[in-house]
Amino acid sequence: MSSMPKQTDVILIGAGVMSATLGVLLKELAPDMKIKVFEKLASAGEESSNEWNNAGTGHAALCELNYTTENADGTIDISKAVKVNEQFQLSRQFWSHLVKEQVLPNPKEFIMPIPHMSMVEGAENVTFLKKRLEALSANPLFKGMEFSEDPEQLKQWIPLIMEGRTSPEPIAATKIDSGTDVNFGALTRILFDHLKQLDVEINYGHGVEDLKRVDGGWEIKVKNDQDNRIEHHTAKFIFIGGGGGSLPLLQKTGIPESKQIGGFPVSGLFLVCKNPEIAERHHAKVYGKAKVGAPPMSVPHLDTRYIDGQKSLLFGPFAGFSPKFLKTGSNLDLITSVKPNNVLTMLAAGAKEMGLTKYLIEQVLLSTEQRMNELREFIPNAKTEDWDVVVAGQRVQVIKDTPQGKGTLQFGTEVVSAADGSVAALLGASPGASTAVPVMLEVLGKCFPDQMPEWEAKIKEMIPSYGTSLVANPELFDQIHAETTKTLELTEAQPIR
Ligand SMILES: Cc1cc2nc3c(=O)[nH]c(=O)nc-3n(C[C@H](O)[C@H](O)[C@H](O)COP(=O)(O)OP(=O)(O)OC[C@H]3O[C@@H](n4cnc5c(N)ncnc54)[C@H](O)[C@@H]3O)c2cc1C
Repeated sequence: MSSMPKQTDVILIGAGVMSATLGVLLKELAPDMKIKVFEKLASAGEESSNEWNNAGTGHAALCELNYTTENADGTIDISKAVKVNEQFQLSRQFWSHLVKEQVLPNPKEFIMPIPHMSMVEGAENVTFLKKRLEALSANPLFKGMEFSEDPEQLKQWIPLIMEGRTSPEPIAATKIDSGTDVNFGALTRILFDHLKQLDVEINYGHGVEDLKRVDGGWEIKVKNDQDNRIEHHTAKFIFIGGGGGSLPLLQKTGIPESKQIGGFPVSGLFLVCKNPEIAERHHAKVYGKAKVGAPPMSVPHLDTRYIDGQKSLLFGPFAGFSPKFLKTGSNLDLITSVKPNNVLTMLAAGAKEMGLTKYLIEQVLLSTEQRMNELREFIPNAKTEDWDVVVAGQRVQVIKDTPQGKGTLQFGTEVVSAADGSVAALLGASPGASTAVPVMLEVLGKCFPDQMPEWEAKIKEMIPSYGTSLVANPELFDQIHAETTKTLELTEAQPIR
C-alpha cells in the first residue's frame, strides 16, 4: 500500500550524530521549522555513532600522528592538525551552549577529560616526534604538550605500556592533558530526545528507498517496517545523513554532483578490556604510528573509554574488508554502488590501491592470537583472557576523481550538495563525529544561503569563534578553551593507580 505525499520543511535521513546535530542547529536557528526524521533501525545512534562502533576520540589532532606529515625537507606540516583542532573547538562550543541550555544537562554523560598521547619506537620515529612537538608547541592551540623519552617518566604516564617492555629500541611519547573521550552514541540519543520534545517527528523503523525531485523540493519513498507500507513524504530540503548508507541514497538523487563518486567500505574490529584492575592502570588515549601500507584510519591506539559509567580499554582498530556499507547493511552494497558514471573511477581506484587491498585482506585473516600480539606491542603483558573482540562500525571511504588522479581514495569527511542547495549528503568518516558541528555548519552555508545572514548573530552567540581563526587569535582561543573546559566539566584530573 502507498500513501499520499506528506509535506514538511526538512527531512533528515538517518538518526546518527550528524542528523542529530543538524536538527538541533536548525531548531535553534528556526524554531518554527517543521522537521521529520526517518531512520531504518529501531532507535537513534545504532550505527557508526554508537559508542562501541567508534573509538570515541574527540579528534583535536593532539595525538593522531597522521595529521602531521613530514615534508621532503624534514620540516613538519601542521596545517591539517590546526584545521582539525579548530574544527573541534567549534563542536566544543556548541556542546557547551547546549549544556548551558540544559539540553545536555550532564556533560559527563557524553564527554570526559583524558590525556591524549602519541607514542613511537625507534630512533627515526623519536626524532620525528621531537620535531612534531617543536612545530606544534609554537602554536597556541597545542599549548601544554609535553615530551619524554625518559623510561622513568614514561612509566608514570603509561605504566601498563612500559611494564614488561624488553625492546632495546628507544621509545618516546608526547602527552597533553586537554584531550577528551566522547560518547557519541549517548550524545546522539540525548539530542534526538531533545528534538522529540521540540515536536520533531522521528520515525524509527523507516528505511528510505528512493528520492525524486518534485516541484519545490524532493519526495522520498519510505518503507515502514512495522506494516511494510510504502509512504511518500516531501520536503523543501533533505539531508542524507545515512552514514555508510548515504552514498546509495545520494546516487538515487541523480544530481550531477553525485556522479563519478564511489565508496570503498572498510570494516573494523576492536579489542576491549573491561577488567577494572587493568582498566584502572591506564589513563590516556595513546596513538601509535600506522604500519606501512595501512590507511591512516587504522593507526593503532590504546584508549581509555568511559561507557555506561564504566571505565574500559579499547585497542585497535583492526581494519578489514566487508562489502557492506553499514554494519546492518547488505553484502550487495558495494557492487550495486558501481554505476556507469563511476565504474571508471572505481576501477582506477582498485588498480591504484592494491597495497591497501593487500593490507585489508591480511587484517581480515588475523587470528585472535595475532591480534593479541599486535596489542602486546602496546601492552607487553596483555593476557588473551582479559580481552574480547568487538565489531566496530563500517567506514565508507569516498573515491573520486581529483587533481591527484582518477579514482583517488579520500580519507576525509565530505559534504556533497545540489547546486540549488535542496539536498545535501555527508560522505566519508574521518575526523568524523568530532567535526559534526563544523560540518553541519558547512551544510547550512551551502543549503541555506539566504537565511545565513539572518542566522549569523545566533550562531555567534552559540559558537563565539564561528567565522574567526582561533590560531590567529590566541587570546580568544584561551578564553573559549577555558570556558568550554569549565562548562563541559573537563578539569578533573584522574590519578593512575
Ligand atoms: C571504527 C571507527 C572508529 C571511529 N572513531 C572515531 C573517533 O574516534 N572519533 C570520531 O570523531 N569519529 C570516529 N569515527 C567516525 C564516526 O563514528 C562517524 O563519522 C559518525 O558516527 C558518522 O555519523 P553519521 O550520523 O553520519 O552516521 P551513522 O552514525 O552511521 O548514522 C547513520 C544512520 O542512518 C541510518 N540509515 C542509513 N541508510 C538509511 C536509509 N536508507 N533509510 C533510513 N535510515 C538510514 C543508519 O541506520 C544509521 O542509524 C569512527 C568510525 C568508525 C567506523
